[in-house]
Amino acid sequence: MTPPRLGLYLHIPFCLQRCDFCAFYLEILRDGRAETFVQSLIHEIALSAQQHVAANRPVQSVYFGGGTPTVLAARQLTAILSEIRAHLTLAANCEITVEAHPSTISVQDLGQLLQAGVTRMSFGAESMEDGDLSRIGRPGAVHETVTAVTRARAAGFTNINLDLMYGLPSQRLESWQRTLAHCLMLEPTHLSCYALTVEEDTRLASNIQRRRSPAPDEGLQIEMDETAQRMLGDAGYERYEVSNYAKPGYACRHNLLYWTNGEYLGLGPSAQSYLDGTRFGNVADLAAYDTSLAANRLPIEDRTRLSEEEQLRDAVIFGLRLIQGIPTHHLHQHASNYGHAAITAQLLAQQLIEEDGERSRLSTRGLLQADTIAEQLY
Ligand code: SF4
Repeated sequence: MTPPRLGLYLHIPFCLQRCDFCAFYLEILRDGRAETFVQSLIHEIALSAQQHVAANRPVQSVYFGGGTPTVLAARQLTAILSEIRAHLTLAANCEITVEAHPSTISVQDLGQLLQAGVTRMSFGAESMEDGDLSRIGRPGAVHETVTAVTRARAAGFTNINLDLMYGLPSQRLESWQRTLAHCLMLEPTHLSCYALTVEEDTRLASNIQRRRSPAPDEGLQIEMDETAQRMLGDAGYERYEVSNYAKPGYACRHNLLYWTNGEYLGLGPSAQSYLDGTRFGNVADLAAYDTSLAANRLPIEDRTRLSEEEQLRDAVIFGLRLIQGIPTHHLHQHASNYGHAAITAQLLAQQLIEEDGERSRLSTRGLLQADTIAEQLY
């Protein structure tokens, strides 16, 4: 029997500074901390391989996220990758992604990453207008994104993603259209377009509360979402998930695992895992993480075994984010398990969810309300 698909996520918890909207677990990089962390992560890879993953189970995707993975030196990232190869089996066509802030990557770094087997670079562009970047406290400039993409392509990368955000403070529809048009000129294979959300305890939330920054305008965000769908669709990108667009054949295999209830092992502080019907997460504290591994203990903080009903619930909630939707009988079984028959019938009657017999999926209008629908069906 073919073993179930498995992905590996590495959380690199450092950034040079915190963007105003960001609520991820991270530390501002200081001297000496990176090398200690790399040694801890290398130890965690070896320990986890012994305890969690059958040796014959190939890893189909590896994803370096964060934080900003490229604040580590390329030699540190490639050392981590070597350790992964030493303890786990990577599938022959394994997708290996590195997220990068455009201002933190040189030609030499890109060459080393490609040489080490990285197949996909993902640059956090966020906007192609410098004014937008400064209004969200995002370091860096648009010309650095252009340079990073040009260098990645010159180094030999053929699979390049750009992350974008829309609904930024004072951003207008026209400037979002300019951002999309500028990105299209760079010809990435993949684009992620996320609506700005205001997370608690961020500088953005405080700026909005003190009226130093306008709150996101939901109506405008919907127009921006529709604009992205139209412009990217016209340019040959296929929308395959609420926020993700790809040229044919370039959907992100690692992220697809999350939306199709695949299994993944997350390493690094705060990283989450889902294996054998159990969700577990690492401690979100770098010092505690290092201490645990120095004592030869995995830094796992909480562990929840999901019942069959909970596994189906998650498959429905995540799967509805995909344009291809989910098997119709999963939706109705979940509705019956959780007493959601009435709300499901209502979503169908409002044509926010569509069914074609075999599959159920969010309609075009439903995609604009994906988060609200997920909350209703949880
Ligand atoms: S670079 Fe990314 S992870 Fe780092 S603070 Fe900004 S948004 Fe957060």
